[in-house]
Amino acid sequence: MAFFDHPDFDGHEQVVLGHDRASGLRAIIAIHDTRRGPALGGCRTFAYADDTAALRDVLRLSRSMTYKAAMAEVPYGGGKAVIIADPRRDKHAGLFRALGRMIDGLGGRYITAEDAGTTVDDLQDVARETPCVVGVRRRPDIDGNMGTGDPSPATAYGVLIGIRAAVAHHLGADTLTGLRVAVQGLGNVGWKLAARLHAAGAQLWVADTDGERAREAERAFGATAVAPDRIVDVAADVFAPCALGSVIDDVTVDRLKAAVVAGSANNQLDRPEHAEQLRQVGIAYAPDYVINAGGLIDVSYERDALDDPQRVRTHIERIGPTLTQIFRQADREGVPTDRVAARMAEERLEQRPSRVA
Ligand code: NAD
Repeated sequence: MAFFDHPDFDGHEQVVLGHDRASGLRAIIAIHDTRRGPALGGCRTFAYADDTAALRDVLRLSRSMTYKAAMAEVPYGGGKAVIIADPRRDKHAGLFRALGRMIDGLGGRYITAEDAGTTVDDLQDVARETPCVVGVRRRPDIDGNMGTGDPSPATAYGVLIGIRAAVAHHLGADTLTGLRVAVQGLGNVGWKLAARLHAAGAQLWVADTDGERAREAERAFGATAVAPDRIVDVAADVFAPCALGSVIDDVTVDRLKAAVVAGSANNQLDRPEHAEQLRQVGIAYAPDYVINAGGLIDVSYERDALDDPQRVRTHIERIGPTLTQIFRQADREGVPTDRVAARMAEERLEQRPSRVA
């Protein structure tokens, strides 16, 4: 397997393979860029088909975290961890304590958090071994309710703000009432996004590989449940990918009927060319690392011991104007939105970080 010549290597500062015989841990930590601060990014627990798939995922995810932190204007760099294990069968405290020791050995260069397959409880085990973990402290969430530290309410709020900006720009819509949204994945973020959209008057189509979840959404939000492999075909105004990555690929890019793609999933495009294909057919794509930064913003405040939900909300609401700027610039130049976003992120990487909210 190639490392320095890997197509997704992209100048990573450090990539660490971790193995712990006693617990069975097999993990990879990727630190992409620490120019703006220590690398901050969640830990994904996933039953990868092989090491190659795990390496590709962690490299792509950690690079996105660098861009996400730069675009969200938080004083952190980008990194990510993956544990190669099935979250339904293989998880136990020892696994996460071993990960905690591995992270601690990096001396503060990498700070972990939740991601798909890794819960607040898992991170409590990490926290027994290292202080380099966020998303674990009970504190008020962005609605002012006492939360567990889970950043997903903040992520969902940011995606809602991003959808508002996207439909205002692309469809001239100044309300979510009556907006047709197809939500793929009803997990931590997707469910909370669906709840917020429903409260705002949107009409929902939903899919989850856990069919019971979709049926619950029918009951809770009057949503229409769709088979997981048909959700991209729904003729909605907005397609909101909130499951796993690479959902826009060579096949789905031609099937999409929505006018806007705006959701929480990381690495929604299987390859960068798909952004240009979306542009050519007039679909507005909200770059994933811009629209899904709410959780990162939230945990950055936790890390800096700034417990002020209103300040976090205000910071998250900046996602709207940032996206509007990206959409307008992309229109002016006739280039894909993700190219404009990447250029803005790279400019910010050259600047000194400062907290803005
Ligand atoms: P989650 O694991 O809680 O939820 C994912 C949901 O998607 C699950 O309900 C799962 O059953 C469903 N799913 C999986 N494959 C599917 C498919 N093919 N079709 C339909 N449903 C499918 O994860 P989450 O925390 O809600 O995160 C969702 C996405 O958002 C991930 O890509 C994650 O990396 C990204 N993200 C999450 C956060 C956060 O704060 N949790 C922050 C930024 C980005």
